[in-house]
Amino acid sequence: MSRGEGNIAHAARLIRAGRLVAFPTETVYGLGANALDRAAVERIFAAKGRPRTSPLIVHVDSIEMARGLASIWPDAAEVLARRYWPGPLTLVVLKRAEIPDVVTAGLPTVALRMPAHPLALELIRTAGVPIAAPSANRFTELSPTCAAHVPEGLADYVLDGGPARVGIESTVLSLVDRPLLLRPGVIPLPEIEALIGAVEVATAPEAGPHASPGMHARHYRPATPLYLLRPGQGPPEGHGAWLRIGEEMPADPLEYAAVLYETLHRLDVERLDWIAVEQPPETAEWAGVLDRLRRAAG
Ligand code: AMP
Ligand code: MG
Repeated sequence: MSRGEGNIAHAARLIRAGRLVAFPTETVYGLGANALDRAAVERIFAAKGRPRTSPLIVHVDSIEMARGLASIWPDAAEVLARRYWPGPLTLVVLKRAEIPDVVTAGLPTVALRMPAHPLALELIRTAGVPIAAPSANRFTELSPTCAAHVPEGLADYVLDGGPARVGIESTVLSLVDRPLLLRPGVIPLPEIEALIGAVEVATAPEAGPHASPGMHARHYRPATPLYLLRPGQGPPEGHGAWLRIGEEMPADPLEYAAVLYETLHRLDVERLDWIAVEQPPETAEWAGVLDRLRRAAG
């Protein structure tokens, strides 16, 4: 595997040749392949050890490219894409036939997102194809928020675009029937509801026809045991790291999200007995961070 600063032309050639490129987005680093090339997308699942029942997000460079991959593009999708793209919002819509089944785990729907990182957009534009990409980590491990986190040997090439600005995975919203939040991110739900009306929140993990891999209970987990502590609770016995809001961790939810995985990656190699995290409040602003912490705690 070679790591590069920003050789877009080389990365785009690899994508067109059916190879895997790890690339920066504003949320986390992705492991990308040509979304229209079945064999290339198969390689993503093999490299990650990801079950083929977990559909991938397809990254586009424009709303126009997204429309071209959807068989139905609802008004709500247009409204949200215009407001949030490029940005950390993934929209699930009915797919067109040219998207191979392996991308969507056999679902008739596809998850689409236009990422807000200049290198990601340039890569898609130069390759001239949509890029299917999950996070560039092995299955159930922590998502990478910088090029150095991408495991050796995972990709044929790593495009280095600096640290991820958002730091946790995108908000995933299904617009196939009534709007349904599949995975919270950094966009507060009331903000989305102000634009498209009421949004139902998917609760039970693995439930329903649109159950998604991000809802898998073992996602986003460091190797070190992580405990989520309620206010007033102290950390366990032994040697560990205590992450309090407004002390070791930022008091602002966006700033917190931006450093969360970086912090867990760093602590995870320190051979600690535990990582104890003060539980954030149950507000819309903290929903994405709280979701990842709950999964990390298991
Ligand atoms: P990750 O594994 O972190 O790349 O996340 C992929 C996310 O994409 C999952 O959490 C799903 O919510 C979402 N996803 C992708 N495709 C679909 C789809 N067709 N239907 C529902 N969710 C999807
Ligand atoms: Mg992932």
